[in-house]
Amino acid sequence: MTKYENGEDLSPAVGLEVDYPEIRESVAAICAKFPSDYWRDQEDADTYPEAFVRELTESGFLAALIPEEYGGAGLPLRAASVILEEIHASGCNAGACHAQMYIMGTLLRHGSEEQKQRYLPDIASGQLRLQAFGVTEPTAGTDTTQIQTRATWDGNQYRINGQKIWTSRAMQSDLMLVLARTTPADQVTKRSHGLSVFLLDLRGAKEKGLTIRKLETMINHQTNEVFFDNVPVPPENLIGEVDKGFSYILDGMNAERILVASEALGDGRFFINKASAYANERVVFNRPIGQNQAIQFPIARAYAELRAADMMNRAACALFDAGQTCGEEANIAKLLAADASWNAAEACMQTHGGFGYAREYDVERKWRETRIFQIAPISTNLILGYLGQHVLGMPRSY
Ligand SMILES: Cc1cc2nc3c(=O)[nH]c(=O)nc-3n(C[C@H](O)[C@H](O)[C@H](O)COP(=O)(O)OP(=O)(O)OC[C@H]3O[C@@H](n4cnc5c(N)ncnc54)[C@H](O)[C@@H]3O)c2cc1C
Repeated sequence: MTKYENGEDLSPAVGLEVDYPEIRESVAAICAKFPSDYWRDQEDADTYPEAFVRELTESGFLAALIPEEYGGAGLPLRAASVILEEIHASGCNAGACHAQMYIMGTLLRHGSEEQKQRYLPDIASGQLRLQAFGVTEPTAGTDTTQIQTRATWDGNQYRINGQKIWTSRAMQSDLMLVLARTTPADQVTKRSHGLSVFLLDLRGAKEKGLTIRKLETMINHQTNEVFFDNVPVPPENLIGEVDKGFSYILDGMNAERILVASEALGDGRFFINKASAYANERVVFNRPIGQNQAIQFPIARAYAELRAADMMNRAACALFDAGQTCGEEANIAKLLAADASWNAAEACMQTHGGFGYAREYDVERKWRETRIFQIAPISTNLILGYLGQHVLGMPRSY
């Protein structure tokens, strides 16, 4: 069993957590105010978990990565990772607000001082939300450099035309980062060139050509189609240099992979705790079902996979926080954590038998939610493609 450095025991079933005990305890205390019926009610009403997001914002956790000079906590990525893991381990879901943590990196690393002064203090205090990230398009899909959304200069400002899909939280956010093509694809030497990132102010944008349409999905994840009809963006809202936006987005990918892996790890802890507890308590054929190897071993295996994924994620975080390259580690961490959480979800579902389908047990909700990590924000296939090409030197497969 894992212990804190002071010797205190941690979670009885899952010994993943050790570092940042104060953060873990505070996040767990907030999450305890949002039990499973809160999430079921949100899903029934198809609503954004406003109260949960407000509480996390007011407690400062969503501003963990904003430097202190702009009103944030200035914590390392590992701390943000711990915050998201704890949210998910408690049965809550950070999908309603996690993007603020990783979108921030683009503004922090590539935004001008004026942009940071203008936005970061208000984001840190919760007055502004930067929760939306418009990259994916219906036609281009994973092949981001093929996006069709254009931003053209009209002499005074940029004008955006095109369409995004799966733009999560666009209705709940004040600001959105948008990737658009500024130089046509047939005029660039590499297809990753000629793309730019804009910080679009969504307040008032509906009157200026922006339409947001909600998508119905299998989980309560507020996500949308976004249509741009000549939407104006002033030049001061271009991030970094024109045409270099794709590299800025790539730059943020490692942090995103690590943070999302942390959420998957949290889900995995949730499933393993829940499955092992139920396996001990449920008696059929006059013995606890956990006495059967067919029930016990999948849970134990998923636990072992979770521990391995956690170690890889910690390694990726340590490299990231030391300013070192971590593409390989971050991608492997995301892959292993997504697989581990899914295997834990399956073990938990099977352990619960028919009761896994009963909504009040919360297994089916988390099972549906954790499946997303195989697909978004990057699919498992694309990670394997990255490892095959960039780590193992095989031909590009995509
Ligand atoms: C709930 C949800 C929230 C999302 N939120 C956002 C968001 O906020 N912002 C945003 O920009 N996007 C968001 N996305 C989009 C998400 O990142 C994409 O769905 C994902 O990148 C895959 O794109 P696609 O769905 O078009 O799949 P496709 O690109 O059509 O791929 C379909 C399948 O084919 C596989 N595939 C494709 N090409 C290859 C290849 N060369 N080799 C092997 N396999 C391949 C893929 O791995 C995938 O399994 C979200 C998606 C979901 C479902």
